[in-house]
Amino acid sequence: MLSRSIPCLWITFCLHLCCFVDGGDAQNAKEVILLDSKAQQTELEWISYPPNGWEEISGLDENYTPIRTYQVCQVMEPNQNNWLRTNWIEKGDAQRIFVELKFTLRDCNSLPGVVGTCKETFNLYYQETDSEVGRSLRENQYVKIDTIAADESFTQGDLGERKMKLNTELRIIGPLSRRGFYLAFQDVGACIALVSVKVYYKKCWSIIENLATFPDTVTGSEFSSLVEVEGMCVSDAEEEADNSPKMHCSAEGEWLVPIGKCICRAGFHQKGDACEPCGRGFYKSSSQDLQCSRCPAHSFNDREGSWRCDCEDGYYRALSDPPSVACTRPPSAPQNLVYNINQTTVSLEWSPPADTGGRNDVTYRVICRRCSWEPEECVPCGPNVGFSPAQSGLVDTYVTIVDLLAHANYTFEVEAVNGVSDLSRTQRLFAAVSIATGQAAPSQVSEVIKEKVQQRSVQLSWQEPQQPNGVITEYEIKYYEKDQSQKDRIYSTVRSKSTSATVNNLKPSTAYVFQIRAFTEAGYGTYGPRVEITTKEENTGTHTFTHTYPSPLLDITLSSWLIRYALAVKFPGTKTYIDPETYEDPNRAVHQFAKELDASCIKIERVIGAGEFGEVCSGRLKLPGKRDVSVAIKTLKVGYTEKQRRDFLCEASIMGQFDHPNVVHLEGVVTRGNLMIVIEYMENGSLDAFLRKHDGQFTVIQLVGMLRGIAAGMRYLSDMGYVHRDLAARNILVNSNLVCKVSDFGLSRVIDDDPEAVYTTTGGKIPVRWTAPEAIQYRKFTSASDVWSYGIVMWEVMSYGERPYWDMSNQDVIKAIEEGYRLPAPMDCPPGLHQLMLDCWQKDRAERPKFDQIVGILDKMIRNPNTLKTPVGTCTRPISPLLDQSTPDFTAFRSVGEWLEAIKMERYRDNFTAAGYSSLESVARMSIDDSQLCPPQRVHRVGLLKEI
Ligand code: AMP
Repeated sequence: MLSRSIPCLWITFCLHLCCFVDGGDAQNAKEVILLDSKAQQTELEWISYPPNGWEEISGLDENYTPIRTYQVCQVMEPNQNNWLRTNWIEKGDAQRIFVELKFTLRDCNSLPGVVGTCKETFNLYYQETDSEVGRSLRENQYVKIDTIAADESFTQGDLGERKMKLNTELRIIGPLSRRGFYLAFQDVGACIALVSVKVYYKKCWSIIENLATFPDTVTGSEFSSLVEVEGMCVSDAEEEADNSPKMHCSAEGEWLVPIGKCICRAGFHQKGDACEPCGRGFYKSSSQDLQCSRCPAHSFNDREGSWRCDCEDGYYRALSDPPSVACTRPPSAPQNLVYNINQTTVSLEWSPPADTGGRNDVTYRVICRRCSWEPEECVPCGPNVGFSPAQSGLVDTYVTIVDLLAHANYTFEVEAVNGVSDLSRTQRLFAAVSIATGQAAPSQVSEVIKEKVQQRSVQLSWQEPQQPNGVITEYEIKYYEKDQSQKDRIYSTVRSKSTSATVNNLKPSTAYVFQIRAFTEAGYGTYGPRVEITTKEENTGTHTFTHTYPSPLLDITLSSWLIRYALAVKFPGTKTYIDPETYEDPNRAVHQFAKELDASCIKIERVIGAGEFGEVCSGRLKLPGKRDVSVAIKTLKVGYTEKQRRDFLCEASIMGQFDHPNVVHLEGVVTRGNLMIVIEYMENGSLDAFLRKHDGQFTVIQLVGMLRGIAAGMRYLSDMGYVHRDLAARNILVNSNLVCKVSDFGLSRVIDDDPEAVYTTTGGKIPVRWTAPEAIQYRKFTSASDVWSYGIVMWEVMSYGERPYWDMSNQDVIKAIEEGYRLPAPMDCPPGLHQLMLDCWQKDRAERPKFDQIVGILDKMIRNPNTLKTPVGTCTRPISPLLDQSTPDFTAFRSVGEWLEAIKMERYRDNFTAAGYSSLESVARMSIDDSQLCPPQRVHRVGLLKEI
């Protein structure tokens, strides 16, 4: 039978064939095999129907491994319908199933006598079920997948080229919805050997990518679909913020398009696909950092996996410090703490600490304590004390403390603090000074109320001054009759321990002027405003009135001078002048010494003069809570240079350090916006012009009073170590009470600014006529050279503003001085005063009197007005030096010879005799024109006096 003979042939062929079917069939890593007929070594036992159709045949591959095949070859008989069905295949997760068939197919042409019955294709079916359905086979339950044709068929003679004849076909089914399925092969009359049936689906296998684990993932059901999969961070890793890890599993089982990632958490770093802890001595503070870092300075750790390191003992981290910065410690104490006291204001200045603790956020705080004289008994200063710019958080190394109590002991501790100071429990380190504030006289008594006005008495009451600056032990009430001429005016005083007093023994119907001032340990304060009260008429009760009395220009009498100077305040000599040039920043210097004023408090009224840098105006200053006061306002013209600004502010920095009734007082500065220096207003302007305007109008006492004021101002300045260098009447200002005050402070600019200053051979500009020879020759400026200038000022004052050395040239002046000539006494100049001038003009500066002595001498003269009587017409050397004794009275001499002897001028006796002056009366009558020694003008100017 033919039908039986063909399978025999077939088997022979098949065994040869199977040896190469295995070749290249390595399992693809992305595939999950559900069925592989080749892998099964026992019988497949698929269902074949009808029984003479598909037949299971065993063979060996080239490795002699048994394989199972199904064959059918009913080519001779028509209407073949042979079915072969696999066992039930559970599909698992699969949605899309791959079916790979390997088979051989016999070429019909190579078979004789099969035309019409032989086929060269077979059909592939499947049936989905949730479980096995038994061994019966119902065709209509199968879904056709495809008709499979061979790419290659073979003939009998092809056996040697078998490699070419094996067909591989791949079909894909899905999506599947049941738990499993069967495959079925329908043969309709072909000669086929089904060598291998492999059923599989594809998976993306679990991987770690970007420190995230992606699980095994079955591909999607469609060829084009991607399955998005979320990754899970490996241990000790965390998702990057807003960037969680994802990947996409392709239909081909490949991972595609990774998105996001995981990163090792703090304390761990990446090694391969895992996170490992940082080693000891290392840290990683954030997941964002890539690497573990070594512990920063002054920190350590002895555990693995640390996110930070701990600070060594005594070192700290501020809350805001990141773990990457070194641990730090509080700074050491500030260095070189120095202070400056100005009555009740203390300025402190220091250098930064030697050790900032390793930080750059050092600030300073000041602790103020007021102490009793007993040690250790200190209390906090309280809220009344002001700190400028602040008490703590100071960035700069200075502070000014204001509104301290006068005459009190204070301790100031200056502490440097940084960001870890508050964390440290170690002892505070600070620099400290103990300071006793100066005396400050009480402020003015104001608000005087007339309680009761009688015919012969007035009862007054008043408020305590706003700033008593100490315990007020007494009030002094000064009064005089308003209508008395200045010459005859007699001041009377009454004292009271309380804020009220009754003044008795007054005249009825008389206008009186009252002024009150307070007294403390520091001395008297200034008088309050004048209050005018008229006593009642003798019999009838007439009206009384009260008002503030306007100061008459020349309302200064001997008695007022006496009162003024007898009660002169003593200033503590501890304060020293600080050269503002030692400050790098002129702004700092000016704020150290001068109050910053708000421009809105200043009202400019009119222009009163021209300064070097701009106009000088008069105006009013109204500070909050204070009465408005007249002020002079110096301005800096627009377009100034930086140097001009510096020099301009320099004057304020110097003036601001002074506080004396005979030194012009700085009210403050405006440095924001238009620069201004605000000074107390001196109604009568500069002294030289004032004297020229009032030529001959003052009594000697008044002139000496002015000189005494200037000397007191200079004594204060020299005590402070300040050398003026340009003392001259033009640089003295005069107020409405005829009080003279030293002004015009500065450094080089004062001299530059002075029209009198000329260039000398030693270089630099010098006001020659006012300057001591050693200062002209080798720029030796000292308080002793200021004394020389003071002598010239005396001469200017006594001559009512005459120009020293008249119209002599500067060169001649220098020469004459060098040769020993000196200015003669001005007309009507008491010899004692001229002697004082001559003493000031001693060549040897050590021989010149000190300002302190000058003040003493002038005070003595004021107290003994007789010493100020002018011997008629004299401009000669006086009788004896003034430094230790007062001038004898000219009238005390019996003869011209005696007089000349007394004044050590006896060698001129012959000149006097020859000129016909044999009696004192004739000398007294000696006209200015007659005098060999006296000039024809008001001031004697035959020549300079030669020192004897
Ligand atoms: P100075 O720049 O200081 O030389 O001032 C120029 C002029 O302005 C002086 O000669 C005075 O006439 C006047 N002056 C300056 N300061 C004051 C002041 N405080 N009170 C009144 N006038 C002043």
